Amino acid sequence: MSRQYAIKIAVVDDDPVMNKLIARMLGNLGHTSVTLWENSQAVLALIDDPDTSPDLLILDLNMPGMDGLEFIRHLGERHYSGSVILFSGEGEPLLLAARKLALSHDIEILGYLIKPPAPEDLAALFEKVGAPVGSHAVKKVYSADEVRTAIAGGEMVNYYQPKVATGSGLVVGVEALVRWQHPDDGILLPERFIGVAEAHGLIGDLDVSVLANALAHVKQWQDEGSVISLSVNVSAKNLASPEFADIVAKVAADAGVPPQRVALEVSERLLMQEDQRALIENMARLYLKRFRLSIDEYGILSVPMNRLRDLPIDELKICMKVVHAAWADGDLLTEYKDCLAQARDLNVEVVAVGIEDMDDWNFVRRKWNESDRAQGHFIAKPMPAEDFPVWLMDWHKRLSAGFK
Ligand code: C2E
Ligand code: MG
Repeated sequence: MSRQYAIKIAVVDDDPVMNKLIARMLGNLGHTSVTLWENSQAVLALIDDPDTSPDLLILDLNMPGMDGLEFIRHLGERHYSGSVILFSGEGEPLLLAARKLALSHDIEILGYLIKPPAPEDLAALFEKVGAPVGSHAVKKVYSADEVRTAIAGGEMVNYYQPKVATGSGLVVGVEALVRWQHPDDGILLPERFIGVAEAHGLIGDLDVSVLANALAHVKQWQDEGSVISLSVNVSAKNLASPEFADIVAKVAADAGVPPQRVALEVSERLLMQEDQRALIENMARLYLKRFRLSIDEYGILSVPMNRLRDLPIDELKICMKVVHAAWADGDLLTEYKDCLAQARDLNVEVVAVGIEDMDDWNFVRRKWNESDRAQGHFIAKPMPAEDFPVWLMDWHKRLSAGFK
């Protein structure tokens, strides 16, 4: 008997004949849990409920009403953690553009199908990743209540990833990265719960608790003699909210850490989705209070420069997808240099993220490519607060030994 797979697949195409054709092909490949949708709005409702959210979407790009490109944006806003196969009769350029858009939203694309689809093309896609569709698709999804209880119960803990000056190698700061210390499932990465928190109005509490915990650690290290700056990630939803600046100022003042040493990072792609007027107002307010503002994950869907010029920013963080191995890839190298040039033009500090090995490290230190700061696994992976002092001593040893 052929194998059967229980992953939830949703096929989204306004053409019912095409939907049925794909369903038949999937059935022949052993997939039994397949639903067909002619209306993409209904699929978004499906995704909002962890019990019904599909593990894999087969998505037609050309649909009336909400087209596939808009749909991808909505998937990004929901931090959809399943996989997507793109489907279109419009030819490859559209599929490639849609793929780039999806990547910029951190949506996993398994591949694409050109209409009319051949059964062997679909089979090849599944084969490429190994059926069922990769580990991504079978991960447990957490409900808003579980996330709410975890925030209130102190299960969210901070890990810290150091940021170093590229020239001297000296440690200048840490970025706080939240983890969920789940009582049954172990340490969970933010991709598993940030989307739920954002979709259910919990991200304000989450970001403020991460900030308060991080300030306490930075104050402790400051008292022990390591004066370093702190970066925290904030959802653009929070930055667009009128009370946020005052809350941040109060939490920092209570902790005794000067605002000049606290940077708020907001991701480039989320920045574009919020009300621009509210963002400018609140970012300006934080700037007046002397907090630092940083544009995170810069370089995939670069925000137009005129928009960036409107914002009082201090730092651009070039994303890992552009930095890592840029020394070996002409396209990445061009993108990296463009990002550097834009940062220089805006007169802001530039951080290269995703320094994974010695080659990346040497690359961002080279004269014409030099960023101001660097962050990545070559320097350190995110670590619990208690490991930071030991890592710091170790890093200084590695640095003075020239990484031999
Ligand atoms: P981000 O702010 O861009 O953080 C960098 C991510 O890249 C982190 O993943 C970090 O562990 C990872 N990383 C850094 N260097 C390397 C490297 O050299 N190689 C590889 N493979 N990965 C590297 P993490 O911790 O999973 O965080 C993912 C995202 O979740 C963050 O991206 C940030 O956008 C979001 N996030 C984390 N903490 C918070 C938070 O407290 N609040 C909010 N709103 N978002 C958060
Ligand atoms: Mg960040």
